[in-house]
Amino acid sequence: METKILLPEREMPTRWYNALPDLPTPLAPPLDPQTHKPLTPDQLEPIFPKAVIEQELSPKNWIDIPEPVLDIYRLYRPTPLIRAKRLEEALGVKCRIYYKNESVSPAGSHKPNTAIPQVYYNKIEGVKRIATETGAGQWGTALSFACGMFGLSCTVYMVKVSYNQKPYRRSLIQAYGGEVFASPSDKTRTGQAMLEKDPDCAGSLGLAISEAVEDAATHDDTKYSLGSVLNHVLLHQTICGLETEKQLAMIGEKPDYLVGCVGGGSNFAGLFLPFLPRRLAGEKVRFIAIEPKACPTLTRGDFRYDYGDVARLTPLIKMHTLGHSFMPAPIHAGGLRYHGDAPLLCNLVAEGLVEAEAYHQLECFDAAKLFLRTEGFLPAPETSHAIKGAIETAKRAKPGEVVVFLYSGHGLLDLASYDAYLGGKLTNFEYPEEHITEALKACPVIEE
Ligand SMILES: *Cc1c(COP(=O)(O)O)cnc(C)c1O
Repeated sequence: METKILLPEREMPTRWYNALPDLPTPLAPPLDPQTHKPLTPDQLEPIFPKAVIEQELSPKNWIDIPEPVLDIYRLYRPTPLIRAKRLEEALGVKCRIYYKNESVSPAGSHKPNTAIPQVYYNKIEGVKRIATETGAGQWGTALSFACGMFGLSCTVYMVKVSYNQKPYRRSLIQAYGGEVFASPSDKTRTGQAMLEKDPDCAGSLGLAISEAVEDAATHDDTKYSLGSVLNHVLLHQTICGLETEKQLAMIGEKPDYLVGCVGGGSNFAGLFLPFLPRRLAGEKVRFIAIEPKACPTLTRGDFRYDYGDVARLTPLIKMHTLGHSFMPAPIHAGGLRYHGDAPLLCNLVAEGLVEAEAYHQLECFDAAKLFLRTEGFLPAPETSHAIKGAIETAKRAKPGEVVVFLYSGHGLLDLASYDAYLGGKLTNFEYPEEHITEALKACPVIEE
């Protein structure tokens, strides 16, 4: 039995799979934040390029990947699918565990899969600069890398707690040529207002989004780019699942469980969406989303319309949410601290087609340690959630079943978190129910 299942480069998928037309219940439309009327595509034009807006709403099942994008994908794609034999042995399970290793990209995570096409579409529409936010720094790194590839400038608003916790992520963004500001910053009105209220504000992803959107909306040559949540991001990430499908077919395997960690939902959706048609056709394959107990969006949030950011600048989207004013506990999986999730993923959770589980950060680090010592790779704290989920799934699985999880990124720039873990300094945070109830009161009430 092979350990490493490598897809030949000529077999790399040349189209992305768009799940929108296949959803049993259509997505609830995004709404204008002021009028609460469905948004028209032209309202998005100040912040996104046209090609991206078209993909956001596309009724087509397959979308061609442009050649200049494929050309950069080939630097690290196809990525390997690996049989985690030593992990199976250590657990004493009789199922087979595989992981799709997206940590081999230049930026060290799955995020370049969407950064590259997004920058490409901006470039062909004449955009000169892209503004964005980053939580743990992974998205900022990926976008800065992709902007460099196509010769665009890149401005990154980095959540202040990560900016201080992860100085090397910031260095890497800068090494690729991007500029980085700790958010809240004094560069935007939103940031200035927050600093006036609370000079020590540690920031949040929702707040950093507000700053980046404001930057893009107030500069003609600048657009905004989001690294997760939106339909077009999930679309670009389907390259992961499409490759996995081919790799499993090469060795005559079929997945029984697809597992991934969820921050905004893009890596997990990228893995399982290409398998959705099989599931809808009655095949037995389960999709399992893993999130932190400190940010339990899918497991404890409400499924309702909410803003994507603190300043209420983004459209209203129907999703599982903890409330847009959610201020997360400083857990180390910075990429998993967003108050909402991709509407496409939430739609499928609401349909019962996707299951969700939440774990504490300490048990996830335990899982990461076991993985490191059996499989050799050091996972990002976000990825440790997928590993924990895959381990629990494998323990429940029947002999001979196949568990596949997405290995979303390496942790080589997260060693400060491992230091805290190995030094016994990490604690768990359970998000209090009162906070959820309180934050949800600030959500708009929309009649549907
Ligand atoms: C950003 C990130 C995540 C979470 O984002 P999704 O959109 O849910 O995929 C998970 N793992 C890593 C390594 C990340 O960088």
